[in-house]
Amino acid sequence: MKDFTLAYDRFVPEEEGLREALTSTGNGYFCTRGAAEWEDAQGVHYPGTYAHGAYNRETTVMGGRAVLNEDLVNLPNWLVLKLLIENEEAIGLDNVELLSYRHELDVRHAVVVRELCFRDSAGRETMLRSRRFVSMADVHQAGIEWTLTPENWSGRVEVITALDGRVTNRGVARYRELEGRHLDPVSPRTFGAEVIALKVQTRQSNLYVAEAARTRAYRGGDDLIEVERGLYQMEDYIQQALTFDVRQGEPVRVEKMVAFYTSHDRAISETLGTAGRSAGHSSSFAEALERHASAWEELWEVCDLSFPGNDRVQFLLRLHISHILQVCSRHTADLDAGVPARGLNGEAYRGHVFWDELYVYPFLNFRLPEITRELLMYRYRRLGEARAAAREAGFRGAMFPWQSGSDGKEETQTVHLNPLSGRWESDLSHNQRHVNAAIFYNAWRYFEATEDLRFLQEYAAEMMIEIARFWASIAHFNLERGRYEIHGVMGPDEFHERYPGAAEGGLRNNAYTNVMVAWCCETAGKVLELLPEGRREALGARLGLSDEEIATWERISRKMFVPFHGDGIISQFEGYEDLEELDWDAYRDKYGNVQRLDRILRAERDDPDRYQLAKQADTVMLFFLFPERELRRLFEQLGYEYRPDTARKNIDYYDERTSHGSTLSFITHAGALAAIEPESSWERFMVALESDIGDVQGGTTKEGIHMGVMSGTLDLVQRGFIGCEIRDGVLYFNPKLADRLEGLSFCMQFRWTSIRVTLASGELTVVADAEGFSRPVRVGVGDEVRELCAGDRWTFALAREAGVP
Ligand code: BGC
Repeated sequence: MKDFTLAYDRFVPEEEGLREALTSTGNGYFCTRGAAEWEDAQGVHYPGTYAHGAYNRETTVMGGRAVLNEDLVNLPNWLVLKLLIENEEAIGLDNVELLSYRHELDVRHAVVVRELCFRDSAGRETMLRSRRFVSMADVHQAGIEWTLTPENWSGRVEVITALDGRVTNRGVARYRELEGRHLDPVSPRTFGAEVIALKVQTRQSNLYVAEAARTRAYRGGDDLIEVERGLYQMEDYIQQALTFDVRQGEPVRVEKMVAFYTSHDRAISETLGTAGRSAGHSSSFAEALERHASAWEELWEVCDLSFPGNDRVQFLLRLHISHILQVCSRHTADLDAGVPARGLNGEAYRGHVFWDELYVYPFLNFRLPEITRELLMYRYRRLGEARAAAREAGFRGAMFPWQSGSDGKEETQTVHLNPLSGRWESDLSHNQRHVNAAIFYNAWRYFEATEDLRFLQEYAAEMMIEIARFWASIAHFNLERGRYEIHGVMGPDEFHERYPGAAEGGLRNNAYTNVMVAWCCETAGKVLELLPEGRREALGARLGLSDEEIATWERISRKMFVPFHGDGIISQFEGYEDLEELDWDAYRDKYGNVQRLDRILRAERDDPDRYQLAKQADTVMLFFLFPERELRRLFEQLGYEYRPDTARKNIDYYDERTSHGSTLSFITHAGALAAIEPESSWERFMVALESDIGDVQGGTTKEGIHMGVMSGTLDLVQRGFIGCEIRDGVLYFNPKLADRLEGLSFCMQFRWTSIRVTLASGELTVVADAEGFSRPVRVGVGDEVRELCAGDRWTFALAREAGVP
């Protein structure tokens, strides 16, 4: 099925890192890069295995300075399978002649496949087909199957199967000067004749990780081969060598069934024993694969977007769905997991959790909201740390970190290596307090999509109140202006960390932050009203919430300052208009790709803070996050004019000054333009769709996929193009680009009822699925609103809506 296969037909060493990231296989608990089983980590290949929450802190002493970093740890490599023919050197891609080669990801079932035919130095030709998966059915299981066929020879082979704990974090070149050793050996062990196992421990965080593998060889179908087994073990490595005869033209199969456990797991005694037993009990590869595939089928029932009109878009949307689910699946909901910005596919940003979940949740909210709820719990559990951070900085409430890892402490590094100049530069990006607005926004949007009052009462409300409280305390009232202001923060645009030449970091009145704060303060009031009286009183008493505080939130929601300049341009921050204009053409001529203008300018000993430029959408975020009607209301409530051309003018203004150095920016601009310039929105949607598969940033995707961008493309279809918006408990649709979307069909879940949405022949059809029905839902198009009960279908002719403004 071509819509479900990512395939490469030639081995290209320079692209292997990217392909490994894109063909990673995971189940929302652990994930392994698509590296070939027989290759060790070196320049071209990087086998990496990562699990949610498996972090470790290490200090590097650099020039006498101690730099502490927390990393998502590269865990022991369970892939290792090597082939030695007639006792010669192990086969590798660089010591054989490849007669054919194919590397595939079956996107539908997250199975990575390699098929190669090679001629070795002795002229022997061999076919090798490898398939492997990380089970979506049994969260601790993974499996590899090799099918080996000697084409023109018979002889003796040795298959080495190993678990390798000697791995370090070396996946990101610019971090290599930093400490990458995170594992200490604990012990290797065997369980009977067939199972090898290995246990390691993270050096600082004391997490135990155990892997076990049972490897067998079969002739023909299921004819177990009596292999000779040789064992070799060290404290951080264990291998078995399986030796057996093969005959020309007769395929043999090797199955390596793996169990993976960490001491974070529930329902276990001790990781090594549990892994060993579990690998020993493992079913055959074929049975395990079948169970895995059917778990994926269930997920596709809920998550697929069928887009028959455009093969490329269809394929990429499915690739993105598959990767999102490999990082955030129903299994993730059982863990204490956040959304690592770069998935579990590489080591960029050290596996930290940023604000990117803002782009990830809209897709999940309408399909698997139970996952969003538990991902939000990752934040709730770290409320204590966020409260402490606020207190330490002199504020009240909760201040969540810009980069979060194990315990919710601020993980943003204070120095950052500029690969262009080779210099370490200071990093003030922790001043992006807007992450707090994102967490608040996420909790509210989850509530709107699910009406999960219980979650609001028990967890979200407390978090939202504490965030509103933080905003009220970081804001101050400027008597002269008669408005609230926020100083010393940064917006999402990381090119501006401070005013040019200023000693202090941070800026005054970032418009995005300020408007979000006004909205959070207003919504916090609504949250309180939604709580049953008893709960409101109890929570208020516990948090020491006063009427005066609530009144302050209300005032902030009407009196927050928003800077403007020129003719209706919202200033990204106060004084933005005084910065110099950059000669973009000159930089484009000189450097070609100017997405990372910050690095370019700093390498030239210049300073991006001097210029009117942006790494990514900042002010434009507002037009992305709020439907126009809501944004207009917000501005008017603040006493600012919101004109019919406000969105267009501001988007154009910032588009000219944005390098889109974060690919998230394409999503934001596409989303903001969907209602006003659908064709231009589509173009940017296509850039975002192609960005990871084509590695548009020239080398970032091999360090991990971009979760926010992948999920953002799915959100663009639903929120941008189909125009989904929840207002007063009604799910509204306002489709654009009906021609381009012809035939689009997908399932959504609104307030626990499944609906199917189809756009075809100028009609939008919404059906309330009788099977997934929980309660009647109200859906609307334009001014019409219908209540749908089980099995109801509503078809709406789009002609009247066709000429979108
Ligand atoms: C972007 C941030 C983002 C982070 C992680 C950075 O390049 O500027 O907005 O949160 O990457 O994806």
